[in-house]
Amino acid sequence: MTATTTTTGPEPSASPDLSKPVGDPPLLEVRNLTVTYGGTVPAVRGVDLRVEAGQKLGIAGESGCGKSTLALALLRLLPATAKLTGEILLDGEDVLTMKWGRLRAVRWAGASIVFQGAMHSLNAVHRVGDQIAEPILLHNAKATPAAARKRAGELLEQVGLPAVRAQAYPHELSGGQRQRVMIAMALACDPRLIIADEPTTALDVMIQAQILRLIEQLVADQDVGLIMISHDLAVLADTCDRLSVMYAGRVVEEGPARQVYAEARHPYGRALSAAFPRIGDLASRRAPRGLPGDPPDPAALPGGCTFHPRCPVALDSCATEDQELREAGGERRAACVLVDTPATDDSRNTA
Ligand code: ADP
Ligand code: MG
Repeated sequence: MTATTTTTGPEPSASPDLSKPVGDPPLLEVRNLTVTYGGTVPAVRGVDLRVEAGQKLGIAGESGCGKSTLALALLRLLPATAKLTGEILLDGEDVLTMKWGRLRAVRWAGASIVFQGAMHSLNAVHRVGDQIAEPILLHNAKATPAAARKRAGELLEQVGLPAVRAQAYPHELSGGQRQRVMIAMALACDPRLIIADEPTTALDVMIQAQILRLIEQLVADQDVGLIMISHDLAVLADTCDRLSVMYAGRVVEEGPARQVYAEARHPYGRALSAAFPRIGDLASRRAPRGLPGDPPDPAALPGGCTFHPRCPVALDSCATEDQELREAGGERRAACVLVDTPATDDSRNTA
């Protein structure tokens, strides 16, 4: 894994925190991050992100768009075949150039991850309380096993499970309960940033809603930052303040979450929004609409705008001209040539 430094300007903060001293770095600032697997698979391409304490950023996109790669890159948890360039500034300190000892301290305590599918990877032969206690012991030389177990019980209560469930083995818990355990584990070392990769995807709708409310509550109570990843734009719009939509390893749209969901400026954002309507939308006006085809294989990206082969409103020039993120009104940016063109064609709104 290597790190080089690039300089792209930070995007303006959505709502500057006037209580902070001027010049304080944001909790997380990612600049021009690229991840290339095996020298030939550019899974993340030039991503910029910014998260302040207490802010919830959603990252949306279909399977294969590079969301998990991005999440794992933030804490350098990718395999050695992944080459990273750019900057990942956590409280102003670059994760990509950190020494291993510092990186170990930053994982869990600076930022923690609820991995995609993690609730299925709890160790079957250990009680969940011991599994929550493990990172506490690992990261705090002064913690005794008894103190770590007590803290595990408190963390379980914080995520809505009785402390006695610490004694349970994973198979004794439901899917929703196991996901609560994973969230408790992510909180174990009081991180300032929590990254949750598809935390509700495997859960039924009722449990999904409970877990989302829990995450929201924890973020509000503890003033941590949150990055929540999902293919479901409706879920992210309900939970997050801001949204970044990824396609083929790039952010193609970003802005306030509800605005992006209600009226995306990029045809891919509109397609995602139409594919995941809210319950209310189903009853009233919108039926889910699929987007034909799949995201491209990063090893063989189409030329021009990578979305053009699937785009319902592509111009001839889109096959050859790549698009950078550009201002799209208010606090919004989108990487589409049509952002500058007023919508005239009905299909633009129903893509
Ligand atoms: P998402 O989380 O959005 O589904 P991923 O980050 O998992 O996307 O994958 C993005 C792309 O990177 C996919 O094309 C995937 O096949 C590829 N990829 C993921 N992990 C690896 C890996 N370890 N080695 C090579 N390619 C990978
Ligand atoms: Mg993923």
